[in-house]
Amino acid sequence: MAIAETAVQERRTIDLDEERSYMDAIDRWLEREVIPVIKHHDHNDIWPEELVGQMAEMGLFGATIAQEYGGLGLPATTYAKIVMRISSHWMAITGIFNSHLIMAAAVERFGTPSQKEAWLPKFASGEIRGGLALTEPNAGTDLQAIRMVARRDADDYVLNGTKTWISNAVNGSCFALLAKTDPAAQPRYKGMSLFIVDKRQGLSVGKQFDKLGYKAIDSAELVLEDYRIPANHLIGEEEGRGFFQATGGLELGRINIAARGVGLADGSLRHATEYAQQRETMGKPIAQHQAIQLKLGDMATRARAARLLTLDAAQAYDRGERCDMEAGMAKYFASEAAVENSQEAMRIYGGYSYSKEYDIERYYRDSLLMCIGEGTNEMQRIIIAKQHLKNNPA
Ligand SMILES: Cc1cc2nc3c(=O)[nH]c(=O)nc-3n(C[C@H](O)[C@H](O)[C@H](O)COP(=O)(O)OP(=O)(O)OC[C@H]3O[C@@H](n4cnc5c(N)ncnc54)[C@H](O)[C@@H]3O)c2cc1C
Repeated sequence: MAIAETAVQERRTIDLDEERSYMDAIDRWLEREVIPVIKHHDHNDIWPEELVGQMAEMGLFGATIAQEYGGLGLPATTYAKIVMRISSHWMAITGIFNSHLIMAAAVERFGTPSQKEAWLPKFASGEIRGGLALTEPNAGTDLQAIRMVARRDADDYVLNGTKTWISNAVNGSCFALLAKTDPAAQPRYKGMSLFIVDKRQGLSVGKQFDKLGYKAIDSAELVLEDYRIPANHLIGEEEGRGFFQATGGLELGRINIAARGVGLADGSLRHATEYAQQRETMGKPIAQHQAIQLKLGDMATRARAARLLTLDAAQAYDRGERCDMEAGMAKYFASEAAVENSQEAMRIYGGYSYSKEYDIERYYRDSLLMCIGEGTNEMQRIIIAKQHLKNNPA
């Protein structure tokens, strides 16, 4: 049986009042602290240190970590709604706690009891923050082609290789990192293992990327040269399970990207609607021209469909069901909805869309990433089709 099938746990449910209180707190924070500083951080690509401290105070770094380890233990549905709300204003900051929570989910789902005790409370409080390190210069989609090697040496592992495009690489200090413990293994996934690596001698930050969008969050290389860690940093303390552990964590990651897509699609719609009601041509607001109404109708429908698909996947995750197909559908549809809605919003803004004075250009730049991260949309469609064919044998 695949590890992913055994390790998913049913999550706690929360009542509507509790969920509403989280959403209200997020709304207040967005209004008072976040919205006023978005342009400054985005346009100057400055990591939002103050906001990160506030996120820790609100418990966002432990949002999905169980309460017994100091987290909020939120179900994926509430978590997705929080991510949607924040992303409808500024998607990039959700990346600071999302990659971190995927790392935490790998430890929580697959770690030994002592690994959970050691790491999860510090992850939940935000004392230790980090992310997920899978991609390498030669291997993104084809994860089994990675070249990072972890060699057992008495009570330690020694790691050598380079990871790239790692979110939070500069400002984070700890990562769930995929390496080959048996590079000759066939099939290749059997030789892969997932480690908790923290910043210490032998691990350095390499090239930092200057990106089109997704500003203010760092993306960089992690370079490991004779990097030595105790053997108990191997998640689950059993070699050969890393591929399933890493891809199992992507279910929550895909729900998160879908939620970000919903937020971007919603935010684009909100901005476009406000603008279309103010901007006048031919003596009336452009919202009264049918050509603009067709766009708004499509945008509203896409945003709603994306939200429903995302909540559907999150509910399956909360029930403890395997949901790679549902999460893939949500990620695929919501990320395309984000791109299409932001493009349509750009058209509704006309020439002003091209000015950095308005927010809409940021939605356009940020939304394109959603089609790439946590598995490209090309791959999502293949995963969906394979699962569909499995469910419908000839
Ligand atoms: C801003 C940003 C942040 C990121 N953060 C992280 C992070 O925190 N951690 C991390 O590990 N990675 C991260 N990534 C990396 C990201 O996960 C990869 O870029 C992604 O998985 C795609 O891999 P690739 O770029 O190597 O593209 P490739 O794998 O080279 O793919 C190139 C193209 O070929 C297509 N393709 C490839 N194989 C197939 C196939 N079999 N069938 C059909 N089409 C195929 C792809 O869909 C794509 O269109 C980040 C990337 C970006 C841009």
